[in-house]
Amino acid sequence: MNDIQPIVLPGVDPRRPLVIAGPCSAETEEQTLNTARALAAEGFRIFRAGLWKPRTKPGGFEGVGAAGIPWLQRVKRETGMYVATEIATREHVAAALDGGIDLLWIGARTAANPFAMQEIADALRGQDVPVLVKNPVSPDLELWIGAIERIHNAGVRRLAAVHRGFTSIDRSLYRNHPMWAIPIELHRRLPALPIFCDPSHIGGKRELVAPLSQQAMDLGFDGLIVEAHCTPDVAWSDKAQQVTPEALGYIIRNLVIREQTTTTESLTELRKEIDRLDDELLDLLVRRMRVSREIGQYKKEHDMPILQTQRYDELLARRAAQAVELGMDREFMRTVMQAIHEESVRQQMRILGD
Ligand code: PEP
Ligand code: MN
Repeated sequence: MNDIQPIVLPGVDPRRPLVIAGPCSAETEEQTLNTARALAAEGFRIFRAGLWKPRTKPGGFEGVGAAGIPWLQRVKRETGMYVATEIATREHVAAALDGGIDLLWIGARTAANPFAMQEIADALRGQDVPVLVKNPVSPDLELWIGAIERIHNAGVRRLAAVHRGFTSIDRSLYRNHPMWAIPIELHRRLPALPIFCDPSHIGGKRELVAPLSQQAMDLGFDGLIVEAHCTPDVAWSDKAQQVTPEALGYIIRNLVIREQTTTTESLTELRKEIDRLDDELLDLLVRRMRVSREIGQYKKEHDMPILQTQRYDELLARRAAQAVELGMDREFMRTVMQAIHEESVRQQMRILGD
């Protein structure tokens, strides 16, 4: 997929971040127009509004549907902004394209479903419209790449990914856990693909829009898609995470954009140091696994079970506490120790099976 093209829109500053802003949902013609006018006054050039809203449970506001297309056409006419909406079925694609919608995005619930993605891809065949694919709700990079591939296979070349966070069983500060390692790996796998961040759906609260946008910029993301509403407190969907157009203008103007151009000498030195430390880490792991296999051999000869839960619990707790004392994160250390332990168990099982 190295023929993916950046989303360049005539009249829109191509420098990052490219910002798509607008309400979660188009609710009324007045709310849509008021929000768009205020965003245009802040200098925003691409307007978003959901017409078809996939809701987790029935009974919520499910969007105004195609009835909102004339409202978006009015936004285009009166403000000169480009307009974007979410599509989830072939009917949505047809209605959006007939209505002159400039950009389409696919939501997280839809991206998780290969049948829905294929239906959309088939409806997009031969169309030259920019398409943004949000990550599926579950942290499954292959499913996300598969969704993007289906759209690419249909001939769409102006493609981008949107990172909107992932459902997690762990309670956290966020509505959807950012798991930054996943979009970073996506970038490694598909370097030509632009990546947008959706701080609104990651954070779920308006206070988190600014810090998440800054984090996305620091990680080199290309753009942002952010929910903004003329009167967020009375929004019909996602009200806690929407900001006013004026607040969004302020947030975006205050972002620090660090450009990753030339690598300085000191950075080269520091990277060499990291490489040396990684060599040591690998060497230590190899030695640890060797000892672990010897323990496996002993357990085999003495008919002992591999898993000794109490010892494992102690080890995890001790190392997690030690990590905190050394200024590292407890959860990080637990994850590292769990991964090492899992591999030790796998190697011991092989010995017992021999
Ligand atoms: C949205 O953009 O309003 C939306 C429904 O987002 P997501 O698909 O990321 O939940
Ligand atoms: Mn929303």
